[in-house]
Amino acid sequence: MTEVERQQVTALGKTLAAERRDGCADRVTDDGLSAFLRQWSAAAGSAARLPAVQRAIGWLVGYDGMTLAERDQALAAAIEELRSLFQASRNTPETPPPPAPEQPAAPRRTAPRQARNRAAQMPKHSLAELDLDARLEQIAHADLRLVSGFRRLGVVTIRDLLYHFPRRYDDVSRRRSISELQVGAEETVIGEVTDVRTIGTGPKLRVRVEVSDETGSIEAIFFNQRWIAQQIKVGQTIALSGKVTVFGGKRQFSSPRWERYTPDPDALLHTGRLVPIHPLTQGLHENQARRFIKQVIDTITPRVPDHLPPHRREQARLLPLGEALAQIHFPANREQLDAARRRLGFDEFLFIQIGVLQRKRLWQQEMGLPFTIDTQVHAELQQRLPFQLTTAQHRAISEIFADLQRPSPMARLLQGDVGSGKTVVAAAALLQAVANGFQGALMAPTEILAEQHAKNLKQLLSRVRVPRKTAMAAGEVYQQADWRALLDPDDAAKLAEIVAILGMTPEEDMGGQGVRVALLTGSLGTRERRRVLEGIARGEIDLVVGTHALITETVQFAQLGLVVVDEQHRFGVEQRLRLKNKGCNPHMLVMTATPIPRTLTLTIYGDLDVSVLDERPPGRQEIRTRRISRSEREKAYRHIRKQVAEGRQVYVICPLVEESEKLELPSAEEMYERLQREVFPDLRVALLHGKMPAREKDEVMRAFRDHQYDILVATAVIEVGIDVPNATTIVIEGAERFGLAQLHQFRGRVGRGNHQSYCILISDSDNQQSRERLAALEQTTDGFKLAEIDLQLRGPGEFFGTRQSGTPDLKMAQQGDTRLLVEARRLAEAILNDDPELARPEHHLLRQKVAAFWSEALQAG
Ligand code: ADP
Ligand code: MG
Repeated sequence: MTEVERQQVTALGKTLAAERRDGCADRVTDDGLSAFLRQWSAAAGSAARLPAVQRAIGWLVGYDGMTLAERDQALAAAIEELRSLFQASRNTPETPPPPAPEQPAAPRRTAPRQARNRAAQMPKHSLAELDLDARLEQIAHADLRLVSGFRRLGVVTIRDLLYHFPRRYDDVSRRRSISELQVGAEETVIGEVTDVRTIGTGPKLRVRVEVSDETGSIEAIFFNQRWIAQQIKVGQTIALSGKVTVFGGKRQFSSPRWERYTPDPDALLHTGRLVPIHPLTQGLHENQARRFIKQVIDTITPRVPDHLPPHRREQARLLPLGEALAQIHFPANREQLDAARRRLGFDEFLFIQIGVLQRKRLWQQEMGLPFTIDTQVHAELQQRLPFQLTTAQHRAISEIFADLQRPSPMARLLQGDVGSGKTVVAAAALLQAVANGFQGALMAPTEILAEQHAKNLKQLLSRVRVPRKTAMAAGEVYQQADWRALLDPDDAAKLAEIVAILGMTPEEDMGGQGVRVALLTGSLGTRERRRVLEGIARGEIDLVVGTHALITETVQFAQLGLVVVDEQHRFGVEQRLRLKNKGCNPHMLVMTATPIPRTLTLTIYGDLDVSVLDERPPGRQEIRTRRISRSEREKAYRHIRKQVAEGRQVYVICPLVEESEKLELPSAEEMYERLQREVFPDLRVALLHGKMPAREKDEVMRAFRDHQYDILVATAVIEVGIDVPNATTIVIEGAERFGLAQLHQFRGRVGRGNHQSYCILISDSDNQQSRERLAALEQTTDGFKLAEIDLQLRGPGEFFGTRQSGTPDLKMAQQGDTRLLVEARRLAEAILNDDPELARPEHHLLRQKVAAFWSEALQAG
């Protein structure tokens, strides 16, 4: 596309999108969309002749006569056509004019000379002689322009082409006689060409083809495709497929798919069937590409080797791979298409599950550190709690204790909604590590969270008496280097240092029997830092709390027995491996507050066992959630004022850091200015955003926690589990811009104390999906329920950045397809039970495929 064309197409796309947002009411343009399209086409010049644009306009012919649902569909399809143009053109700096379809001798001026020469030198083979790794240009008679078009899409080899799946299918398999054709439906007719004429000139050129059968006749209009008049001749029998529209009171096909008809029904490629729509790019003409793909599929798929042994395949009721690949490209019918999708989706789940299960085995093969559970100590912890553990907490704790007693290292995920009480569970586990003579580490994603955890752990554990079993060498080290020996009661500086490091006074230390918790973060002074590191190395410190720096730095533990990681979604597989590579095999507990639907859990954390806290501690107040429009902001401000007057604090969340004209959303900076200057000049307002240096962010958070501010304006950085019990209201601007899971996380920032808390969602969006999302938030505070809803509404990518979690993208499998996933998991387990290394000959290919799948996934991520 030229720049001018790009602008023209953009303008068109914007209008269509606006029309769709407006509910397809045909009122965003002055005289209706049809009139607009005519004007646009007349003015747009060469842009109007782009095939994708013509297809887009084709979808919209007869717009005024369509029902709302049809309009919506037509708009969606048209927008998609336009979008494909942009995706394609990103890959094509040079834009060759699209070749005419069905033109046998299209000029080959588009293939860059170099590539053409290189390709020309390659020995050519007939398809039947080539294997899956052969490059497309090795195929004898392959059109070089086609080959370079595919290359731009990343399709280089025959295998790439087999996995270049259609993005959708047009069902024009219903064949009718002309008199039966229904307006608005996707139909196919076969008839004789009785008239062909070219009407108009320039951008308004149309070719009108009349087709007749024994029941009547119908017109097909092709816009701006002059060549059609040369290709379709009176007397030919052709098949036409497309949507039937009405124009001037007469039914017609507008820019339908067509092909010459031969009596063999299997020979129909572009019409009269489920027509696959493959992702294309400039230089790849639809029909030509489809014919090429069909040729490859027909020749190659019968001899595609299957990586699943036949009995496994039958056990899981799956199509053979070759058949699935053939059917996914050219499905005989819906059933076959579904079966093909099932097989190919199953493969993706299977590769993932084999990968994660192997990782789990790797972790568990190692010798671990079996603990003996000290029930006495555990009872003492419970006595000291100001509350009773919930049933869910009890259950999670006993699952963890069972793991800790095993000889292989624990690898467990503790999943629990915000406020479900994960910290106590972690504390109970850490306490057992100490009681067994080991050290524990707790890692948090930010310094401030680490501080919070350290404070909580000290409160919970420092007064629990631990009979030190002096297990292994740790005890010895510990006794020799007891810090109390260093203590001179008159040395106030030393005392302060010790308190800073161990977080407790000598009295609190109870003669060395209390649990010693130290904080290790970047804000410690060099001296303190050295003391802590020494304390850890010598075993004087039982539990250390820090950020992820804990594992990247040169922290040496005397005897590390258990690692707890908070907020898993910022702590990937790689970090876990690094920990392991530090030479110790501690038990590991990963905690996450992001409620993850089961399907995703199996995929993302498939190598972990899972405990769930699905119960809230009693006596929690429900957070009141309400959505308001921007014009009602004043209400929110009155509410804020009231809360602050009662001594409470407030968060205001904005989606952006800097102002953005396009989106008309307030940025955090603007909002901060406005609130501080105009709305609440008498209150203390602070600003927090992700572009600030980490240290500055921590400072602001700390100051807010210590109630030096009343209102904190922030971007999404606030999401991570910060705990300010005095904050009771959170206002979220542009709420529709956030995912449901994220909104739920935001909301979890309030309702952490005894005060009634509120969440105010500000949004003007009338998009159906965002309305449903915000309504779901108003109705429930159950994070898991919300996660399921979000997964249904938006798909997993939006819900949870799968990339960042090191999970491969799925091309075919549906993340929500729990049943298929569970089946794949089962088969993966069965296969690995038989053959853990996939070493047997019948698993050879499978092993290769799994490796290839993961290496591709990790590269992409
Ligand atoms: P999260 O799962 O979000 O990390 P926390 O562990 O921070 O939750 O717990 C949230 C609050 O609930 C804390 O103040 C904690 O003391 C309290 N809490 C935890 N368990 C219980 C319980 N069983 N009964 C009452 N309060 C509890
Ligand atoms: Mg927490």
